[in-house]
Amino acid sequence: MTIDVPALAVRGVSHAYGTRKALRDVDLTVPRGRFTVLLGLNGAGKTTLFSLITRLFDTQQGSIDVLGFRISQHPGQALRRLGIVFQARTLDLDLSVMENLLYHAALHGIGGRDARQRAQDVLADFELADRRRDTARKLSGGQMRRVEIARALIHRPQFLALDEPTVGLDVVSKSAILRRVRGLVQERGVSVLWSTHLLDEVQPDDAVAVLHRGQVVAAGDVADVVAATRTGDMRAAFIALTGGAPGSDVE
Ligand code: ATP
Repeated sequence: MTIDVPALAVRGVSHAYGTRKALRDVDLTVPRGRFTVLLGLNGAGKTTLFSLITRLFDTQQGSIDVLGFRISQHPGQALRRLGIVFQARTLDLDLSVMENLLYHAALHGIGGRDARQRAQDVLADFELADRRRDTARKLSGGQMRRVEIARALIHRPQFLALDEPTVGLDVVSKSAILRRVRGLVQERGVSVLWSTHLLDEVQPDDAVAVLHRGQVVAAGDVADVVAATRTGDMRAAFIALTGGAPGSDVE
């Protein structure tokens, strides 16, 4: 596979819930080895897009490729390369942290000593090694989120997609998670798609795609999006593109 194959290529994707159109002809590329921010207000369609990428819903129109594998035709190959963190909490609260990870490893065909070693490694990466025997319910919101990200990495995916992972977290937990996930990009070359409505989670060297009312209204490097909107920074660019103003849904 050539280096040019993006982590994610979404082409002409539309999705409707009955008559309500949630996505309209969406094109989105997540380049390899970059941190890409999917920026959109509430209801923009971010979660719908994540549900399509993970095959929770079938693609009604258009195509989605993960690392060159079309999810409708080669779901196994595609999903093996994808780690996902959903906005809604998905840990089993009655299982221990370690059991949550081992269960997920088993779903990927990883078992025994290998699974335990991987679980210990990812927990150490997220500073959770000392919590492995605790039931998930005992953890704080920030710790639960870190377990979910660690779990998403246990099968060593090349592409990690996170849907509003910092919702409900305090600033300290939030910046620790952002730092760690950015570290995965820099240290291991993981490609990341990070969805959010929070502009302070965007950095100048990120790639960005702005989703508004189900359409991608701008995409590229932050500098390109700012230049294309003839604004001074990403905040002003976002407001120009969406009409969103600080104090409403944009923080
Ligand atoms: P948020 O930040 O609030 O999670 P979002 O960007 O993730 O928003 P979606 O949840 O994908 O946006 O919603 C996109 C549109 O689709 C919205 O108009 C929403 O009301 C609608 N929608 C989402 N899920 C459903 C559903 N199961 N049934 C009907 N409409 C839905």
